[in-house]
Amino acid sequence: MKENLVRLTDVGKVFLTSKVETHALSKINLHIDDGDFLVVRGASGSGKSTLLSIVGLLEKPSSGSYEYRGVDTARMNLTRRAQLRNREFGFVFQSFNLIEDVNIVENVGMPLKYRRDASRSERFERAELVLDRVGILPRAEHFPPQLSGGQQQRAALARAIVGKPKLLLADEPTGNLDSESAKIVLDLFAEMHDQGTSVCVVSHDPMLQTYANRELELAEGRLVGT
Ligand code: ADP
Ligand code: MG
Repeated sequence: MKENLVRLTDVGKVFLTSKVETHALSKINLHIDDGDFLVVRGASGSGKSTLLSIVGLLEKPSSGSYEYRGVDTARMNLTRRAQLRNREFGFVFQSFNLIEDVNIVENVGMPLKYRRDASRSERFERAELVLDRVGILPRAEHFPPQLSGGQQQRAALARAIVGKPKLLLADEPTGNLDSESAKIVLDLFAEMHDQGTSVCVVSHDPMLQTYANRELELAEGRLVGT
């Protein structure tokens, strides 16, 4: 049997802003297993980013429960949550989120810096290995603004995988890319998946359907057809 990584039970998320309550998510029941390539589709505002933030332990649910590898995340302290974010998850965002005044190899090595178990030279070595893997090693010394969108996203993907995460979480990773660059990036996701990384992508890009082994759809904060 495949190991269960993520299990959300009746998860809801409510945002309160200036007396307005937004029910971003309601009654979400969802699991992500080892080996999954899950795509969550949904229109803008349907709750995709909120869902990913909860799964990635960046936000807490307002109701319901979230177990990660069988452990209730509500019982984890800040340190444990930060540790899981750093060691278990790799994050890729639509807007790349690279640090502009730091070169690519340093951007990519950043997650290892927070671990303290890799020396500076090991960090560079591992960053260069993943940059080679995503095909932009010649850009290692460049700064993010000097790269095309597709190259920046490949760097962001390299940063997401440098720590060998169990689960890759991506928020509309092709949203700012032309279709050719999008395909290169998605093929890399597929390659990571083939090599054992579980993947959860939220996106409304129809191209993703060909990559997924499971698909879910969000509409107004609810999973459709479950
Ligand atoms: P999607 O990523 O599918 O476009 P989001 O998860 O970003 O959707 O948003 C879902 C709903 O929650 C939207 O109505 C959005 O305005 C609202 N929302 C998201 N984040 C916040 C926040 N931090 N504060 C208030 N409302 C929010
Ligand atoms: Mg979003």
